[in-house]
Amino acid sequence: LLDLIISDAKIYDGSSRPYYYGDVGISGSMIRYVGAASGMKAKRRISAAGRVLAPGFIDMHSHSDTTILVNPSADSKIRQGVTTEIIGNCGNSLAPLAGPALEHLDSHLDGYGLSREWTSVREYLNIVCRSRPAVNIAMVAGHGTIRRAVLGNENKTPTPSQMAGMKKLLIEALQDGAYGMSTGLIYPPGFYADTDELVCLATVLQQYAGLFVSHIRGEGPTLIEAVREIIEIGEKTGASVHISHHKATGQPHWGKVKNTLAMIDDARRRWVDISGDVYPYRATNTLLQTFLPRWVHEGGVKVMLEKLQDNDVRYQLVERLRGADTYQIKWENIMLAHTRKGCNGHLEGKNLAEIANIRQVEAAELVIDLICEEEGTASVIIQSMCEEDIEEVLKHHTMMIGSDGSCLTLDGPLGQGNPHPRNYGTFPRVLAEYSRKRGIISLESAINKMSFMSAKRLGLQDRGLIMPGFKADLVLLDYDHVCDMATYEDPKRYPRGIDTVIVNGTAVIDEGEMTGSRSGTVLRRGSEAK
Ligand SMILES: [Zn+2]
Ligand SMILES: [Zn+2]
Repeated sequence: LLDLIISDAKIYDGSSRPYYYGDVGISGSMIRYVGAASGMKAKRRISAAGRVLAPGFIDMHSHSDTTILVNPSADSKIRQGVTTEIIGNCGNSLAPLAGPALEHLDSHLDGYGLSREWTSVREYLNIVCRSRPAVNIAMVAGHGTIRRAVLGNENKTPTPSQMAGMKKLLIEALQDGAYGMSTGLIYPPGFYADTDELVCLATVLQQYAGLFVSHIRGEGPTLIEAVREIIEIGEKTGASVHISHHKATGQPHWGKVKNTLAMIDDARRRWVDISGDVYPYRATNTLLQTFLPRWVHEGGVKVMLEKLQDNDVRYQLVERLRGADTYQIKWENIMLAHTRKGCNGHLEGKNLAEIANIRQVEAAELVIDLICEEEGTASVIIQSMCEEDIEEVLKHHTMMIGSDGSCLTLDGPLGQGNPHPRNYGTFPRVLAEYSRKRGIISLESAINKMSFMSAKRLGLQDRGLIMPGFKADLVLLDYDHVCDMATYEDPKRYPRGIDTVIVNGTAVIDEGEMTGSRSGTVLRRGSEAK
């Protein structure tokens, strides 16, 4: 007797092969049967007639590290059909911790009313597991986190013993279940690392078959060199490398992804194992102080805020921010998304030109003011990409889907601010806009990029395919009507057309309703070096 049969489904099995009609039988957390289950009995039967059955979506690039602890029901992801999130991206994970990384993280957690009960990846994953997440969680360890643990927020090259310390933390993280390491090479302290340091750590990843995931050193003027660096790291070490949220930002650089995708193809011809992911939006979302030069970030956020109190420093930075050619981005294209500290909530959702006008200050001054008032926590949404590039990257055979967002909720502490719509709409948007409406990629390919391709890339053994022996992570959707509803103006809206979401055999959304089940688990990489 099976627990559940989903009958007459149009099955897109995740492999990118053409769909077929069939029944899927589930018992416990596993898919037991795929085919015509006419004679089989089950405790429950769902008729999928007219609907698409796909593997649960895998969010290849997530930032739910903290929010999954605040709200384990992971609403904004589950509603998109996401059943597994890969966290720890852009160089920033919540473990492993040591030294100066402890204080840095504690002040971050303070902002969420959380207290830290871990230092290692193993302990952190145990805490996530104990919170009973609705989605499955897998993580990569952040290079920034590891570097901060050993070198603090300093602009230094590691000594041999510091390098050994970083390697040790990375090895422990991999043994504790991390699937690889991420970098954030535009963020402190990641951007202080030179290529040699990254090569050194990628060598460890190669030995442990972990993935080198990279927010690369630049996505605008230095995009080409930044991609070249990742290829070099893959080529020198033999590690599998992966470019996060691949894009070209700033109008003068639009179209350059044609070059970078050609570089990726070329590298693959030379046996470099390289891939990437993409989100389907024209805007980025990051902290406001990303606009400040590296030296300002040296020493950490507290030190940065002190520096900004200095009139000479301030003058110098305002001058720099005025330089139109530095960013090629107009103030009206930068929206204040989220504030935490000050009383600037009423300004969320407005662009910096509007806010400057309200306050009667120059926009360049406003940037510094907001960084100070919000103590470095203000985030912005920047319109900086073009559709042609998104389509180009999405089509590429090495590119998967990652939201670059975190699990949020409509209300409560995670319902504040004006978040990027990608937190609510990434996966349905790819299906509705890029597959159904524009025909940029087939539905088979879209689902493959959201499931098996990512599972295979990370080495998630039994996820991402609708096949007997695989875990029953499943999404039932109405392809003709699936639609992302989240917009920049009105981002906190769940998508339509995602009917049923099953995580490890249990329905978390059942015919449109959240069941309250939290059947996700923590996924850990096998611990041996290869
Ligand atoms: Zn990033
Ligand atoms: Zn990211």
